[in-house]
Amino acid sequence: MSNYVTHLECSISGDHYPAGQIHGLSKAGRPLLVRYDLERMRNEVSKQDIAASSANGFWRYAPMLPVTKPESRISLGEVVTPLMPLTSSAAILGGVSGNIIVKDEGRLPTGSFKARGLALAVSMAHEFGLKHLAIPTNGNAGAAMAAYARQAGMRATVLCPFDTPDINIREIQLQGGDTYMVNGLINDCGKIVGEGKGQVGWFDISTLKEPYRIEGKKTMGLELAEQMGWSLPNVIFYPTGGGTGLIGMWKAFAELQALGWISGKLPRMIAVQATGCAPIVKAFDDGEEHAPLWQDAHTVAAGIRVPIAVGDFLILRAVRESGGTAIAVEDDHIMQIRNDIAREDGILLCPEGAATAAAYQRAMEQGLVSADETAILFNCATGLKYPMPPVTGTLDKDQPIDYAQFNG
Ligand SMILES: *Cc1c(COP(=O)(O)O)cnc(C)c1O
Repeated sequence: MSNYVTHLECSISGDHYPAGQIHGLSKAGRPLLVRYDLERMRNEVSKQDIAASSANGFWRYAPMLPVTKPESRISLGEVVTPLMPLTSSAAILGGVSGNIIVKDEGRLPTGSFKARGLALAVSMAHEFGLKHLAIPTNGNAGAAMAAYARQAGMRATVLCPFDTPDINIREIQLQGGDTYMVNGLINDCGKIVGEGKGQVGWFDISTLKEPYRIEGKKTMGLELAEQMGWSLPNVIFYPTGGGTGLIGMWKAFAELQALGWISGKLPRMIAVQATGCAPIVKAFDDGEEHAPLWQDAHTVAAGIRVPIAVGDFLILRAVRESGGTAIAVEDDHIMQIRNDIAREDGILLCPEGAATAAAYQRAMEQGLVSADETAILFNCATGLKYPMPPVTGTLDKDQPIDYAQFNG
């Protein structure tokens, strides 16, 4: 397989860095973006080649990814995640059945879209011969990192806030991650990982602090385009924490345009956050290019409890370039919508996924989206990892059963 990577580029200064070497952040302390020879790719790779691929899930886009050898790919059985139109629940959201479509990323290994980014980051780390990876996490990134690192025979150290959902912490540990709970938030965990680099020699695999998680998340955009017949929706609602996915998809669309595989208007990108942690929404509303630390961050949607993002300006740039917006939703609203969609359509979203549906409802109310537009909601993790309401119904097998109740 040929590799089309030419170099890496600092996302703020544009400075070039050589491919084929281990990199963290740029000298300016900002994310590095992988650049490809898209001219040559355009001549040598076709949509038909992709369609004919027998690789698992997002590995079908291997020519557009940085991994140089097929044997470097660390895989846990990735799948192409389904698109599921909301039917009965569409009306609750103020939309039309069929036009609101959930991309269900909960079907990926370790139950979240973190598998995309971490599969790429771990595969590249493996290619570079790294032996020990460390990550700060709100749960899902740590689970994916541990699973892929162990699959590759690498050591995984995972630091998470002390109030990370129990199921995530246990999952990480069971999948071979050396797991530590920290009395702080994800940025506090990130500080310890960063400071430990020199002392322990582990590689820091934090969001956007190495170049390849974006490339993995980019495959959401590639996959969406291919699934929709190499066209794109009008609008994409994305639950935004560190923003890897939003940045990655925007990069994917630019690359697909350069390849001539898509044409026409790109989707409006809508960054969705919770009102208890909405640094990007605030910066968007204030017209700022960067988003300062959000104080006292709290939300039920743990995956988007990210008080400060190193790629803040890349998120804001993508949202603005696309003509999109940023919307914050209340926790109560998120859980209400999660319950409504599960009850009406049998589709169990995670709270972060439900936040995108709540934001859709807001956007409809405010006239930011129209009902005839196709909207994609990213359900970034399986709903099964999150707390659910208790069951109260009981039956006594020793008493006569009142069958009338079942029709009530
Ligand atoms: C990580 C995560 C997010 C945020 O994704 P980013 O691309 O880092 O912004 C949203 N939801 C869930 C469930 C997550 O695990």
